[in-house]
Amino acid sequence: MTEFPVASLLDWYHNNKRDMPWRKTSDPYRIWISEIMLQQTRVDTVIPYYRRFLEAFPTVQDLANADQQTVLKLWEGLGYYSRARNMHQAAIEVQNERNGTIPDSYDELLKLKGIGPYTAAAISSIAFQEQRAVVDGNVIRVMSRFYGIEDDVRRTAVKNQIQQLTDEIIPQEQPGEFNQAVMELGALVCTPRKPLCDSCPLSTACTAYNSAQTETIPYKSKKKKIPHHQIGVGMVTDGDGRLLIALRPDDAMLGGLWEFPGGKKKQGELLTDTVRRELQEELGVTVRVNDKFMKLKHAYSHFKITLHAYWCVITSGTPEPISSNGLKWVTLDEISEFPFPKANKVLIEKLQTNGQKIPRA
Ligand code: SF4
Repeated sequence: MTEFPVASLLDWYHNNKRDMPWRKTSDPYRIWISEIMLQQTRVDTVIPYYRRFLEAFPTVQDLANADQQTVLKLWEGLGYYSRARNMHQAAIEVQNERNGTIPDSYDELLKLKGIGPYTAAAISSIAFQEQRAVVDGNVIRVMSRFYGIEDDVRRTAVKNQIQQLTDEIIPQEQPGEFNQAVMELGALVCTPRKPLCDSCPLSTACTAYNSAQTETIPYKSKKKKIPHHQIGVGMVTDGDGRLLIALRPDDAMLGGLWEFPGGKKKQGELLTDTVRRELQEELGVTVRVNDKFMKLKHAYSHFKITLHAYWCVITSGTPEPISSNGLKWVTLDEISEFPFPKANKVLIEKLQTNGQKIPRA
């Protein structure tokens, strides 16, 4: 097997790594937060969230003692909200069952909610110098090119092969630095398109570079087309300048966040009928659907939506939280205190920035 130039990579990393707030600490709590936030999310997006989060919850005890709504409010806009709910649960577990101490080994970290093999390897290697290799998209790209792996990197068997190779080369000394170095090389030099091989510390021994295959490795099969749903949403007003919002159940997607009630349009249904039907099913009320307020598009990881929001007024019945964990009537000032998913947040921002009034019923 080609020898991997670990020392050259570490040298390169020490001279070229970007300045990031979580690179200045070995506190496992801070590293944990950064690793969870960085999943599926860009570094530039994460930095302000990371700072605000640590300002609010400087220790694992502070996080454990917070209520879930405060945690979700600080996570608002970052997406994949189960990350925040799980991290909060794990902090409570650390406080109640582990005397407030974050476990210092890969195996024990894996027992905490929301910590999988990748995060356990990252925390244990960076904070506790355990020899555990991380494999993310950047590592897959660097390793598949370096070793000339031509198979489809979406396949589990190929990911396992790369994990095994990386486990074999991670050094005993500075394993956390090694992990971060491979990821940083993937982010800055071994980029998906036009990698900067001329300035790469691995180029002398890199298979893809030396066989002119950097454009074809890694090979990724095409993703399946994701569905696109039309969503009808009711912005229900009470005649007193307040809007009705619903709390999503904890175990649902976007659980613990608030939203304007509504749901998926059925085939052949008019959007206004979707809103009427959904509000009947979710709240047990009959509504009059008035003007359209806004239409917007949003993409989640497994589907896309076009959301159509309509002003609505209840014509009979009292709203009940039939499919939610609670309902609230809120003014435009109060609404900012509640965490909302991004698509709903766009509706709120339009209301607030345009100085729009909630219509009187
Ligand atoms: S030489 Fe090029 S392809 Fe190989 S690891 Fe470096 S940047 Fe990636």
